[in-house]
Amino acid sequence: MRRAGAGVLALASLAVLPAGAGVRAAAPAPALEVVATSTDLKALVEAVGGDRVRVDSLAAPLHDPHAIEVKPAQLARLKTAALLVRVGLDHEPWLRRALLTLGASAPGGARDLDLSRSVALLQTETPRLRADVAAHVHGFGNPHYWLDPENARPMTAAIAAALAGLAPAERAHFEARRDRFLERLDAGLARWHGALARHRGARLVTMHDAWTYFAARFGLLIAATVEPTPGVPPSPAALGGLVERMRATHVRVLVAEPYADPSLVRSVAARSGARAVTLVPSVGGAPEAGDYLALFDVNVARLAAALDAAP
Ligand SMILES: [Zn+2]
Repeated sequence: MRRAGAGVLALASLAVLPAGAGVRAAAPAPALEVVATSTDLKALVEAVGGDRVRVDSLAAPLHDPHAIEVKPAQLARLKTAALLVRVGLDHEPWLRRALLTLGASAPGGARDLDLSRSVALLQTETPRLRADVAAHVHGFGNPHYWLDPENARPMTAAIAAALAGLAPAERAHFEARRDRFLERLDAGLARWHGALARHRGARLVTMHDAWTYFAARFGLLIAATVEPTPGVPPSPAALGGLVERMRATHVRVLVAEPYADPSLVRSVAARSGARAVTLVPSVGGAPEAGDYLALFDVNVARLAAALDAAP
C-alpha cells in the first residue's frame, strides 16, 4: 500500500511540473482523446501521455470478456477518438461489432493501435477453433501479454510512437515521460524478482489461462488450467482428473481471478490441497492496484504470501 501510494504521488508530481511550464509559454493544445479497450492499456497510455491525453477504457477492470456491451456514450467517444488502443488477437470479440456500427468513422489505420503486434506472443502454436467466432478462446495466441511487466517496454514504445504521430510537437514530452515510467518499471522489476526469487520453479494451477506471461517472467510453472478451453468450465470427469494430477505433482497454489466461480475455486482447492489465491488481472481490479506498477506490487505480494503459506 505504501509503495503504491508513493508511486501515485510521484506520477502526479511528474505530470504537474511540465504542464505548469507549458501554460506560461503558450496555450497548450487540447488533450488527445484516446479510447483504450482495457484499464491496463488506459494506464499505460496515461503513463506516456500525461495531461496531453484524455483516456477512456471501454471495459471495466473486472469483466468477463464475453459480456462487454459497448454503451452509446462509449460509441460516440470511439467515433471521434484520435486513437483506439486495443489488446488485439481475440481478446475483444465485442469490439468488431462496435466498429462495424460506426462504419467509415470507426478508428482505422494510424488511429487504431493493436498492441499485440508490439510484443512476442506465447501459445501461438496451439490454435483453437470454435464455431462461435465471437468467443474469447485464445485462438491466435494468449492475449494476456500485459501481465508480463517487461512487455510494458514495447507496449509503451508503440504508444509513444502513435501519440507522437498524432501530435508531433509533443514527441519529446512523450518520450521523456516514457523514460521516467521505465525507470520506475525497472525498480519494480527488481522488487518483484526479489520477492518471488525463492519460489522459482513453483507449480501453479490457474482457473483461466491468463497468467502464462506473468509465470514465464518470474520462473513459475503453470501445471494446468481448470478451464480446459479458455472460457469453458470443466466437466466433472475433467475436474476429477485435474485434482488427481494436482495432488500427484504437488501443485501448491491455485490462482483465481476475482470473478471466478467461488464454489468451483473452493472445490478445486479443497480436493487438491492447493491454496487458493485471488490475483488481480487488470488495473483497478482491486483498490490498491490503481496503476500499472501497483498491479504487479499487489499480485506479487499476494502470490508470494500464498506460496509462503502453502503446504
Ligand atoms: Zn483469456
